[in-house]
Amino acid sequence: MTNITPFHLAIDGPVAAGKGTVSRLAADRLGFLYVDTGAMYRVAAYLAIEAGVDLTDEAAVTELVAISAIEMHNPLEAEKDGRLTTVIVDGEDVSWKIRTEAISAGSSKVAAHPKVREILVKKQQAIAEGQDVVMEGRDITYRVLPEAQLKIFLTGSDIIRAKRRHLQLLTRGEDISYEDVLQGIKQRDEQDLHRTTDPLKKIPEAWEIDTSELSIEQVVDMIVSRVAVLRSL
Ligand code: C5P
Repeated sequence: MTNITPFHLAIDGPVAAGKGTVSRLAADRLGFLYVDTGAMYRVAAYLAIEAGVDLTDEAAVTELVAISAIEMHNPLEAEKDGRLTTVIVDGEDVSWKIRTEAISAGSSKVAAHPKVREILVKKQQAIAEGQDVVMEGRDITYRVLPEAQLKIFLTGSDIIRAKRRHLQLLTRGEDISYEDVLQGIKQRDEQDLHRTTDPLKKIPEAWEIDTSELSIEQVVDMIVSRVAVLRSL
Protein backbone atom coordinates (compact mmCIF):
# COMPACT_ATOMS: atom_id res chain seq x y z
CA MET A 1 0.00 0.00 0.00
CA THR A 2 1.44 3.42 -0.87
CA ASN A 3 1.70 5.88 1.90
CA ILE A 4 0.16 9.14 0.76
CA THR A 5 0.16 11.06 4.02
CA PRO A 6 3.72 11.85 5.07
CA PHE A 7 4.80 10.50 8.43
CA HIS A 8 5.92 13.15 10.90
CA LEU A 9 7.92 12.05 13.91
CA ALA A 10 8.37 14.90 16.39
CA ILE A 11 10.97 14.74 19.15
CA ASP A 12 11.44 17.30 21.93
CA GLY A 13 13.64 17.25 24.99
CA PRO A 14 16.26 19.05 27.04
CA VAL A 15 19.90 19.67 26.11
CA ALA A 16 22.02 16.59 25.36
CA ALA A 17 19.26 14.03 25.89
CA GLY A 18 20.51 12.32 22.71
CA LYS A 19 17.92 13.86 20.36
CA GLY A 20 20.39 14.49 17.54
CA THR A 21 22.04 11.07 17.44
CA VAL A 22 18.79 9.19 17.98
CA SER A 23 16.94 11.23 15.34
CA ARG A 24 19.70 10.86 12.76
CA LEU A 25 19.88 7.06 13.20
CA ALA A 26 16.11 6.64 13.29
CA ALA A 27 15.75 8.80 10.16
CA ASP A 28 18.39 6.74 8.33
CA ARG A 29 16.69 3.47 9.25
CA LEU A 30 13.27 4.75 8.28
CA GLY A 31 14.41 6.54 5.13
CA PHE A 32 13.04 9.83 6.51
CA LEU A 33 14.58 13.30 6.35
CA TYR A 34 16.28 14.34 9.61
CA VAL A 35 15.70 17.96 10.63
CA ASP A 36 17.72 19.49 13.48
CA THR A 37 15.78 22.64 14.37
CA GLY A 38 18.26 23.60 17.10
CA ALA A 39 20.78 24.20 14.31
CA MET A 40 18.60 27.06 13.07
CA TYR A 41 18.61 28.82 16.47
CA ARG A 42 22.36 28.21 16.59
CA VAL A 43 22.65 29.92 13.20
CA ALA A 44 20.68 32.90 14.55
CA ALA A 45 23.18 33.23 17.43
CA TYR A 46 26.12 32.77 15.05
CA LEU A 47 24.86 35.49 12.70
CA ALA A 48 24.33 37.91 15.58
CA ILE A 49 27.75 37.27 17.13
CA GLU A 50 29.51 37.58 13.75
CA ALA A 51 27.70 40.86 13.06
CA GLY A 52 28.44 42.21 16.53
CA VAL A 53 24.71 42.41 17.27
CA ASP A 54 23.53 42.26 20.88
CA LEU A 55 21.75 38.91 21.39
CA THR A 56 19.03 40.64 23.39
CA ASP A 57 18.20 42.97 20.46
CA GLU A 58 15.19 41.13 19.05
CA ALA A 59 14.66 43.41 16.05
CA ALA A 60 18.28 43.22 14.91
CA VAL A 61 18.56 39.43 15.36
CA THR A 62 15.23 38.93 13.56
CA GLU A 63 16.43 41.05 10.65
CA LEU A 64 19.62 39.01 10.33
CA VAL A 65 17.66 35.74 10.32
CA ALA A 66 15.14 37.11 7.81
CA ILE A 67 17.75 38.15 5.26
CA SER A 68 19.97 35.06 5.56
CA ALA A 69 19.72 31.95 3.42
CA ILE A 70 19.85 28.96 5.78
CA GLU A 71 20.19 25.61 4.06
CA MET A 72 20.42 22.19 5.71
CA HIS A 73 21.02 18.80 4.16
CA ASN A 74 22.18 15.28 4.98
CA PRO A 75 26.00 15.21 4.97
CA LEU A 76 27.26 14.48 1.45
CA GLU A 77 29.97 11.84 1.01
CA ALA A 78 32.77 14.45 1.22
CA GLU A 79 31.19 16.03 4.31
CA LYS A 80 31.00 12.89 6.44
CA ASP A 81 33.27 13.96 9.28
CA GLY A 82 31.06 13.02 12.23
CA ARG A 83 28.52 15.79 11.75
CA LEU A 84 24.85 14.83 11.92
CA THR A 85 23.73 17.44 9.45
CA THR A 86 25.29 20.01 7.13
CA VAL A 87 24.32 23.63 7.69
CA ILE A 88 25.07 26.28 5.08
CA VAL A 89 24.45 29.97 5.73
CA ASP A 90 24.74 32.36 2.81
CA GLY A 91 26.99 29.85 1.09
CA GLU A 92 29.27 29.22 4.09
CA ASP A 93 29.48 25.78 5.72
CA VAL A 94 28.96 26.54 9.43
CA SER A 95 28.18 22.95 10.50
CA TRP A 96 30.96 22.87 13.09
CA LYS A 97 31.18 26.59 13.87
CA ILE A 98 27.69 26.48 15.39
CA ARG A 99 28.56 23.62 17.77
CA THR A 100 30.74 25.51 20.25
CA GLU A 101 29.64 26.19 23.83
CA ALA A 102 29.59 29.94 23.13
CA ILE A 103 27.04 29.42 20.35
CA SER A 104 25.07 26.95 22.51
CA ALA A 105 24.70 29.60 25.21
CA GLY A 106 23.79 32.27 22.64
CA SER A 107 21.24 30.06 20.89
CA SER A 108 18.91 29.80 23.87
CA LYS A 109 19.07 33.59 24.29
CA VAL A 110 18.00 34.31 20.70
CA ALA A 111 15.46 31.45 20.87
CA ALA A 112 13.56 33.46 23.48
CA HIS A 113 12.63 36.10 20.87
CA PRO A 114 9.09 35.46 19.52
CA LYS A 115 9.85 37.07 16.14
CA VAL A 116 12.91 34.89 15.58
CA ARG A 117 10.82 31.83 16.45
CA GLU A 118 8.05 32.89 14.09
CA ILE A 119 10.41 32.93 11.11
CA LEU A 120 12.15 29.68 12.00
CA VAL A 121 8.95 27.76 12.81
CA LYS A 122 7.60 28.68 9.35
CA LYS A 123 10.82 27.41 7.74
CA GLN A 124 10.57 24.16 9.70
CA GLN A 125 6.93 23.63 8.74
CA ALA A 126 7.76 24.29 5.08
CA ILE A 127 10.53 21.66 5.18
CA ALA A 128 8.18 19.04 6.68
CA GLU A 129 5.39 19.67 4.21
CA GLY A 130 4.77 16.60 2.08
CA GLN A 131 7.81 14.71 3.42
CA ASP A 132 8.44 11.97 5.96
CA VAL A 133 10.57 13.62 8.65
CA VAL A 134 12.15 13.09 12.02
CA MET A 135 12.27 16.60 13.42
CA GLU A 136 13.77 17.40 16.80
CA GLY A 137 13.84 20.47 19.02
CA ARG A 138 11.92 21.96 21.94
CA ASP A 139 8.52 22.89 20.49
CA ILE A 140 8.09 20.37 17.66
CA THR A 141 5.45 18.18 19.34
CA TYR A 142 3.05 21.05 19.99
CA ARG A 143 3.96 24.05 17.81
CA VAL A 144 5.84 23.05 14.68
CA LEU A 145 4.20 19.67 13.97
CA PRO A 146 1.15 19.44 16.23
CA GLU A 147 -0.35 16.84 13.86
CA ALA A 148 2.69 14.54 14.03
CA GLN A 149 1.72 10.86 14.11
CA LEU A 150 4.32 10.11 16.79
CA LYS A 151 5.44 12.55 19.48
CA ILE A 152 8.33 11.78 21.76
CA PHE A 153 9.83 13.54 24.76
CA LEU A 154 13.41 12.37 25.12
CA THR A 155 15.00 13.01 28.48
CA GLY A 156 17.82 11.88 30.78
CA SER A 157 19.43 12.73 34.11
CA ASP A 158 21.45 15.98 34.34
CA ILE A 159 24.61 14.06 35.19
CA ILE A 160 24.38 11.62 32.29
CA ARG A 161 23.56 14.40 29.85
CA ALA A 162 26.48 16.53 31.08
CA LYS A 163 28.88 13.57 30.84
CA ARG A 164 27.80 12.89 27.26
CA ARG A 165 28.08 16.52 26.21
CA HIS A 166 31.47 16.90 27.95
CA LEU A 167 32.88 13.89 26.10
CA GLN A 168 31.49 15.22 22.83
CA LEU A 169 33.13 18.63 23.33
CA LEU A 170 36.49 17.15 24.41
CA THR A 171 36.48 14.92 21.32
CA ARG A 172 36.00 18.03 19.22
CA GLY A 173 38.99 19.69 20.89
CA GLU A 174 37.12 22.17 23.12
CA ASP A 175 38.96 22.79 26.37
CA ILE A 176 36.16 22.82 28.93
CA SER A 177 35.63 21.29 32.38
CA TYR A 178 32.83 18.89 33.29
CA GLU A 179 31.53 21.40 35.87
CA ASP A 180 31.27 24.14 33.24
CA VAL A 181 29.41 21.79 30.89
CA LEU A 182 26.96 20.79 33.64
CA GLN A 183 26.44 24.44 34.51
CA GLY A 184 25.88 25.33 30.83
CA ILE A 185 23.30 22.56 30.41
CA LYS A 186 21.39 23.64 33.52
CA GLN A 187 21.38 27.28 32.44
CA ARG A 188 20.21 26.48 28.93
CA ASP A 189 17.45 24.14 30.17
CA GLU A 190 16.37 26.79 32.64
CA GLN A 191 16.06 29.37 29.86
CA ASP A 192 14.28 26.94 27.53
CA LEU A 193 11.81 25.87 30.24
CA HIS A 194 10.94 29.34 31.42
CA ARG A 195 10.77 31.50 28.31
CA THR A 196 7.39 33.03 27.61
CA THR A 197 7.02 31.90 24.00
CA ASP A 198 6.90 28.16 23.33
CA PRO A 199 8.98 26.87 26.21
CA LEU A 200 10.30 23.33 26.41
CA LYS A 201 7.54 21.13 27.80
CA LYS A 202 6.29 17.57 27.69
CA ILE A 203 2.78 17.48 26.36
CA PRO A 204 0.50 14.78 27.84
CA GLU A 205 0.29 12.70 24.67
CA ALA A 206 4.06 12.57 24.12
CA TRP A 207 5.80 9.25 24.75
CA GLU A 208 8.50 9.94 27.32
CA ILE A 209 11.75 8.01 26.91
CA ASP A 210 14.40 8.40 29.59
CA THR A 211 17.72 7.70 27.87
CA SER A 212 19.84 7.59 31.07
CA GLU A 213 19.96 3.81 31.31
CA LEU A 214 19.46 2.95 27.64
CA SER A 215 21.93 2.65 24.79
CA ILE A 216 21.41 4.73 21.67
CA GLU A 217 20.64 1.53 19.74
CA GLN A 218 17.94 0.52 22.24
CA VAL A 219 16.25 3.91 21.95
CA VAL A 220 16.43 3.87 18.15
CA ASP A 221 15.02 0.31 18.06
CA MET A 222 12.10 1.33 20.30
CA ILE A 223 11.27 4.30 18.09
CA VAL A 224 11.63 2.52 14.75
CA SER A 225 9.43 -0.36 15.99
CA ARG A 226 6.74 2.06 17.13
CA VAL A 227 6.77 3.84 13.76
CA ALA A 228 6.42 0.47 11.99
CA VAL A 229 3.37 -0.37 14.11
CA LEU A 230 1.76 3.01 13.53
CA ARG A 231 2.36 2.83 9.79
CA SER A 232 0.77 -0.59 9.57
CA LEU A 233 -2.47 0.55 11.21
O1 C5P B 1 19.00 21.36 20.16
P1 C5P B 1 20.11 22.34 20.41
O2 C5P B 1 20.69 22.21 21.76
O3 C5P B 1 21.12 22.38 19.33
O4 C5P B 1 19.37 23.75 20.34
C1 C5P B 1 20.03 24.95 20.63
C2 C5P B 1 19.08 25.90 21.33
O5 C5P B 1 18.06 26.30 20.41
C3 C5P B 1 18.33 25.33 22.54
O6 C5P B 1 19.02 25.51 23.75
C4 C5P B 1 17.03 26.08 22.53
O7 C5P B 1 17.16 27.28 23.25
C5 C5P B 1 16.82 26.46 21.08
N1 C5P B 1 15.79 25.66 20.42
C6 C5P B 1 14.49 26.06 20.54
N2 C5P B 1 13.51 25.43 19.84
C7 C5P B 1 13.80 24.40 19.05
C8 C5P B 1 15.13 23.93 18.95
C9 C5P B 1 16.12 24.58 19.66
O8 C5P B 1 14.19 27.01 21.26
N3 C5P B 1 12.82 23.82 18.36
